[in-house]
Amino acid sequence: NYFRDLYTLSATLDTDVSGEQIIFINNEWVNSASGKTFPTINPTNGKKICDVQEGDKDDVDKAVAAAKAAFKHGSPWRSMDATKRAALLNKLADLVERDRVYLASLETLDNGKPYTAAYAGDISGVIGALRYYAGWTDKMTGKTIPVDGPFFAYTRHEPVGVCGQIIPWNFPAALVAMKIAPALACCNTVVLKPAEQTPLTALYLASLVKEAGFPPGVVNVVPGYGPTAGAAITNHPDIRKVSFTGSTEVGKLIMEGAAKSNLKRVTLELGGKSPLVVFKDANLDEVVEWAHQAVFYNMGQVCTAGSRTFVHEDIYDEFVKKAVARAQKRVIGDPFELKNDSGPQVDNDQFEKILELIESGKKEGAKLECGGARLGDEGYFIQPTVFSNVTDNMRIAKEEIFGPVQQIIKFKDMEEVIARANDTEYGLAAACFTNDIDTALTFTSRVEAGTVWVNAYHKSSVSAPFGGFKMSGIGREMGEYGLAQYTEIKTV
Ligand code: NAD
Repeated sequence: NYFRDLYTLSATLDTDVSGEQIIFINNEWVNSASGKTFPTINPTNGKKICDVQEGDKDDVDKAVAAAKAAFKHGSPWRSMDATKRAALLNKLADLVERDRVYLASLETLDNGKPYTAAYAGDISGVIGALRYYAGWTDKMTGKTIPVDGPFFAYTRHEPVGVCGQIIPWNFPAALVAMKIAPALACCNTVVLKPAEQTPLTALYLASLVKEAGFPPGVVNVVPGYGPTAGAAITNHPDIRKVSFTGSTEVGKLIMEGAAKSNLKRVTLELGGKSPLVVFKDANLDEVVEWAHQAVFYNMGQVCTAGSRTFVHEDIYDEFVKKAVARAQKRVIGDPFELKNDSGPQVDNDQFEKILELIESGKKEGAKLECGGARLGDEGYFIQPTVFSNVTDNMRIAKEEIFGPVQQIIKFKDMEEVIARANDTEYGLAAACFTNDIDTALTFTSRVEAGTVWVNAYHKSSVSAPFGGFKMSGIGREMGEYGLAQYTEIKTV
């Protein structure tokens, strides 16, 4: 039925979301203090979808004041039973399920990702995260601790307070849920800033937060730009914790601002240049498919993208041939067309950046096997691109491309490939493909990455922690580990 619904809804979407979307503070829709707005663009055709009220410092101040009031002892939120908090999170999940066709359509319109992926992947992720953390609200138990002398010691897990949450544009709705669900499960309050490229689903989710019955001020959504609204969150003296997903460059600014303002707690989920290593005993046809999805899924706009494909020299030529054939089969086009595997890149900046990196690959001597250019003459579409003969020192092997570009690199043996896989400041994800358990165990124990897959890629779960080693991040989100980011431990 959702395919049928899709067509009716997508036909009306342009009119549905026209007009201004406004800032969500204290369960009310308000205009920006400055009166400014910014446009959000449909990346499929480069045209404006609608204008959005542009939040800045004054709006963040208002949102923080509302969140602070909602967090006060004795407030409806702080005095609510944990089981009622769970019921609210589950109610929100129910509303997302009710409106999943609309939400998935809105995501596709604003971000450009294929509707099928938005519906089956992103919106399922939203529902999953809300339900998973709903289950934790009444299970955050402390410990009783034996201490010397006639004393009784125990710990309490308490909420941190007002949490600032800043998210990027690649999984706009799913990241809202990944951020707010654990924060709310732990009884915090939230001021969230969506990415300026993709504010629409976060604002729609805000309307569902209100409909679900969360008290005013518990969730506030302030759309706006990074250096203004984002910086106001980072530097705010009444925000006790900031959770950021985005580039490593901005992650550093967040940490600096957090330290300089009030030492707010920081969780960072940042970039990557993840190695995917194909040992010579792997099943080649299966690996070609995994490696393809590892880098082309979501138009390459995934922080864990398998963007360094290391292939053993004995199978290198055959792998390249098959990888190219697979990339050429990828169907690109209107993300609302169900036959299409990929849509456009999110915006013109990303589009230009990717094309520039492709040029650098050609100049630095990598062999362009296929793609390498824009597709069509409208929107931000890029052909699936495969480079062979890539060496470690090339920019395409070192910098995050965040686009549909596969780098295939040759290696000889285990010691060498582990050293080369680790020779980066990033450490978000890694994968190895092998049928040999010793090879798999050696690789998984020695590679420096927050997530390591064996004979798989991009498999994630709300119940499994996610985060980076080295400059890919600080802290872990999701799973039980993710709760630690949103609680203070008090020893009594
Ligand atoms: P970005 O860092 O520029 O923007 C991310 C968010 O930060 C946006 O909401 C933006 O408005 C805000 N921001 C920008 N400057 C800011 C500032 N000075 N202060 C406060 N906030 C600011 O990233 P992007 O270009 O939008 O997204 C792509 C990057 O995000 C890639 O590097 C990718 O790897 C990374 N990313 C990481 C993960 C992860 O989970 N590790 C997930 C998605 C994306």
